[in-house]
Amino acid sequence: MAQVLDGIRVRDEIQKEVRPRVEQLAAQGSAPGLAVILVGNNPASEIYVRNKVRACQALGIYSEKHTPPAHVTTGELLELIESLNRRPEIDGVLVQLPLPSQVDSKKVLLAVDPDKDVDGLHPMNLGKLVSGRAGPRPCTPAGILELLKRYRIPIVGQRAVVVGRSELVGKPVAFLLLAEHATVTICHSRTANLPEVCREAGILVAAMGRAALLTGDFIKPGATVIDVGTNRITSREEAAAIFRNSPEKLAEFDRKGSLLVGDVHPIDVAEKAGAYTPVPGGVGPLTIAMLMVNTVEAAERRAGTCSG
Ligand code: NAP
Repeated sequence: MAQVLDGIRVRDEIQKEVRPRVEQLAAQGSAPGLAVILVGNNPASEIYVRNKVRACQALGIYSEKHTPPAHVTTGELLELIESLNRRPEIDGVLVQLPLPSQVDSKKVLLAVDPDKDVDGLHPMNLGKLVSGRAGPRPCTPAGILELLKRYRIPIVGQRAVVVGRSELVGKPVAFLLLAEHATVTICHSRTANLPEVCREAGILVAAMGRAALLTGDFIKPGATVIDVGTNRITSREEAAAIFRNSPEKLAEFDRKGSLLVGDVHPIDVAEKAGAYTPVPGGVGPLTIAMLMVNTVEAAERRAGTCSG
């Protein structure tokens, strides 16, 4: 039976470690502060931001939310970011993506002070990742590495295959695995013989946004499988097909009206992998935990107490 890599357990561990650091900073008069910018009324973004603000509150991190309207201009957002960059008590500035189409997202992300880029997505910080320099790492990829390390999954010398090449997940997780001495292959929508490439992986990371696409054929027996995908299934037929008519899953679908599914087939992975992250409850909880870590590290750098 495959081992389930429990993201909720690891998140709780990380938060427990972060709490005394927050208290220490507060005692020195340097309480960490996070500003979140949420543009418009995207319901998914609203939930993500609410969860981020709640995580701050639970740890005693100061947070503030800025909510410009959906018709905001690039210039107005740049002004807001500049004002947050200038405030010393704000350690992290986070722009919740996606931004509306009239906004130049690249320009906006570039405006965030790299020292306050707690999402680790500023080109300067992505450059630090690639060149092996210290700096904030993108939260979801950093969470994946924490999970692997805390479950003592060997990485050195392993064949790792990452499916997905986004700047948010695929590329940074590939570079983090490379830094840990894995031999890394990055796949994407044009990769030839995807099942064959995936079957070479001792560590398989799926970050595509394609529900249950990686079935048993893609998984080497005993592999560690990390499923980043979060796909909401709203069709009962699709849910029945993915979960092979499982009465429990169909009852859950009928109760909730939808089901969350990763990019890896949930039944096949449990049968074939050596260890895997479930969806939900795997990678998802770690993203916000790593945001808290990045915010506290930014505050420690400001306070001059950071070791890194
Ligand atoms: P993205 O920007 O849409 O990138 C998707 C990547 O997958 C692209 O590189 C694309 O290839 C590749 N891809 C798409 N279909 C494919 C296929 N059939 N075969 C092989 N590769 C394929 O997505 P993202 O932002 O990286 O997110 C990926 C997934 O992770 C989404 O489900 C997202 O919701 C989830 N996510 C979860 C968390 C979390 O905290 N749990 C955080 C971030 C993202 P091309 O480059 O060739 O188009």
